[in-house]
Amino acid sequence: MSSHDLSSDKTDVAANLAEIQNNINAACDAAERNRDDVTLVCVSKNHDADHVRKALVDGRRVFGENRVQEAAGKWPELRDEFPDIELHLIGPLQTNKLKDAVALFDVIETVDRPKLAKALAKHRDNTGTCPDLFIQINTGEEEQKAGIAPKDADDFITMCREELKLPIIGLMCIPPVDEEPAPHFTLLSKIADRHGLKIKSMGMSGDYEAAIRFGATHVRVGTAIFGSRGY
Ligand SMILES: *Cc1c(COP(=O)(O)O)cnc(C)c1O
Repeated sequence: MSSHDLSSDKTDVAANLAEIQNNINAACDAAERNRDDVTLVCVSKNHDADHVRKALVDGRRVFGENRVQEAAGKWPELRDEFPDIELHLIGPLQTNKLKDAVALFDVIETVDRPKLAKALAKHRDNTGTCPDLFIQINTGEEEQKAGIAPKDADDFITMCREELKLPIIGLMCIPPVDEEPAPHFTLLSKIADRHGLKIKSMGMSGDYEAAIRFGATHVRVGTAIFGSRGY
C-alpha cells in the first residue's frame, strides 16, 4: 500500500484498462449484448490513492472497495478531485460501520442478512438517505462466505423490497475460488430475473468475460487493472 510499492509503480494501469475494455467489448459483441450494458467496477482495495488516481485520470469513475475504513482514508480526497465518482462497497458490512458506509458509498453490493437490511431501513427512516443496494447471494453455499443462501434468497429479497422498502436494484455473488463459475453465474442470473432485478454483479479478473456471457451488468476487476495487491 505504500507509495513506494514498486509492483504498483510498474503497473501500466491505462494499458490494462484499455485491454480489459477491449475484452469486455468483445464479450458483449459475442453475447449480442449492448456494450453500454456492462459497467467495469475498478476494485482499488489495497492500492493507495496515487495508484488509483491513474484509473481516474484515464476516465474511470466506478470503483469498488471492500473495507469501510480503508475507503474512508482514501476516497474523500479523490472525490474532491473527481466529484462524479460512483463508489461501491463490495465487502461485508458490520452494522457498527453502517453510518460511515452510507456516508461514503453510492452503492452497497453486500446486503447479506436481515439484521443489516433492518439497520439500513432504520437509518433510512432516521436520515432520509440510503445508497442503492445489491443483495449478495452465497451461490456456493460456502460456510465462511457472506451472502444469503440460494434457498432463502426469494424470501429475503421480498422482505427487503416489500416490508422494508429498501432500494434493492441488483444481486451480486462471489463464486467459490476452486469451482467452475458458470453455474454460479447462471444461478445468480435466474434469481435476479425472477425478481425483475436488472443488475447482476458477477465476474472478477479471472472470469469477467464468462460472467458477461451469463448476463453480468457489473464486473468487479482488481488485479487485472492495478496489479497484484502484495498482501
Ligand atoms: C477483491 C475483490 C474483487 C476483485 O478481485 P480480482 O481477482 O483482483 O479482480 C472482486 N470482488 C470482490 C468482492 C472482491 O473482494
